[in-house]
Amino acid sequence: MNLERPDFAIVGGGIGGLAAALSLAQKGFASTVFEQAERFGEIGAGIQLGPNAFFCFREMGILDAASNGAVHIERVQIMDALSGDELIGIPVDDDFKARYGNTYAVVHRADLHNVLLNACDTHELVTLKTRHNAVGYQLDNGRVRVHFSDQPDFSADALIGADGLRSRIREQVVGDGPPRVSGHASYRALVPIERVPENLRWNTATLWAGPKCHIVHYPLKGSKVFNLVVTYHNDAPEPVAGKSVELDEVRQGFEQVAALPKELVDRGRDWKLWVLCDRDPTDRWLDGNVALLGDAAHPMLQYLAQGACMAIEDAVCLAHVMHKRNGDIASALRDYQARRVVRTARVQTYSRLIGDHIYHPVGASALARNSALKSMSLDQIHENIAWLYGGTALDPAPVT
Ligand SMILES: Cc1cc2nc3c(=O)[nH]c(=O)nc-3n(C[C@H](O)[C@H](O)[C@H](O)COP(=O)(O)OP(=O)(O)OC[C@H]3O[C@@H](n4cnc5c(N)ncnc54)[C@H](O)[C@@H]3O)c2cc1C
Repeated sequence: MNLERPDFAIVGGGIGGLAAALSLAQKGFASTVFEQAERFGEIGAGIQLGPNAFFCFREMGILDAASNGAVHIERVQIMDALSGDELIGIPVDDDFKARYGNTYAVVHRADLHNVLLNACDTHELVTLKTRHNAVGYQLDNGRVRVHFSDQPDFSADALIGADGLRSRIREQVVGDGPPRVSGHASYRALVPIERVPENLRWNTATLWAGPKCHIVHYPLKGSKVFNLVVTYHNDAPEPVAGKSVELDEVRQGFEQVAALPKELVDRGRDWKLWVLCDRDPTDRWLDGNVALLGDAAHPMLQYLAQGACMAIEDAVCLAHVMHKRNGDIASALRDYQARRVVRTARVQTYSRLIGDHIYHPVGASALARNSALKSMSLDQIHENIAWLYGGTALDPAPVT
């Protein structure tokens, strides 16, 4: 084993796995990324990126490339889906950027994934392998042997499990069974800008919060399309990922909402369904020289729009501690876990909380939400989100 320059196996070539490979490579560590699919790719949908993600892009040397593909929105806003009233509006202006040191933007997932893939592909310290379905690992005398369903084992100094919500690596590290099914059905569609109602062609990330339902939209691809994510409670018992559904199934969750957001839902075509899952936070991310990262470590509901941002932060933190500790895997991984567990657990927990209390409350609870949100000044709003957008991947471990 080479303590100066250990090498890594990374299982999973999503945003988290590729961000880990690139971040490690920037610090001089070699890795091999194993993706189960025939090719590396992402689903056709958008993603919101908080300032904390842009902090990481700068660290990873891809700030310009990631920014170029993004749409730089003017506001983040929350509307009451029943009355159509605005409840909160946060301008993404010079003041915002000065507070957090970075901007807030939205991007097509494939564009961001491609930026990472290209940077990995051209880096001599990253090896990319497709058609490798990891089924487990074995700790092996200071190294780790990764097992695949249909390929020979691979041995490395450390293994990073970045294999998402249904992680095989997590199964072995934590063993906490299948993820929790939320019973919330999320439908996604991309709408060409010509089909978006003219009075809704906003350059914003907008949430319409309704009773047990919500609608999120923002422009993508140089504002040529609108990304639509609409969610309602349907008590679905089983996880679903990317199943094609008819418009009528989507519509039925939004009969009670105001005319404008309802019209937008009507404009969606080629809807795909996800039944959302998450997990309770865990502080067990490590097993010897094996560590979890991204959704494998902290799958969350999407209500803070931070799952991928946290995966990217994990990646930058991992590379940072590995460099700081001169490649001493055991102490670096302990440092990584200590720095990341509390922040990601907070995001997981708050994602559930704001789902219940901001996105989906009903009746008097919704009125209480409206009253609370409308009474907040912009400064108070910023005070509430500063921990998230102002925190960074390099924050030291909190004292607990
Ligand atoms: C509706 C919705 C909206 C969202 N919006 C946002 C948002 O606006 N902002 C945000 O930051 N986050 C958002 N998220 C969360 C975000 O999508 C995830 O947190 C993020 O994609 C996690 O990345 P990951 O790389 O950890 O996992 P994944 O993206 O799941 O990647 C895992 C990879 O591992 C591969 N893999 C799996 N098993 C194996 C195996 N056994 N062997 C080899 N490879 C394997 C998979 O094929 C995949 O490529 C949203 C999520 C949803 C559902």
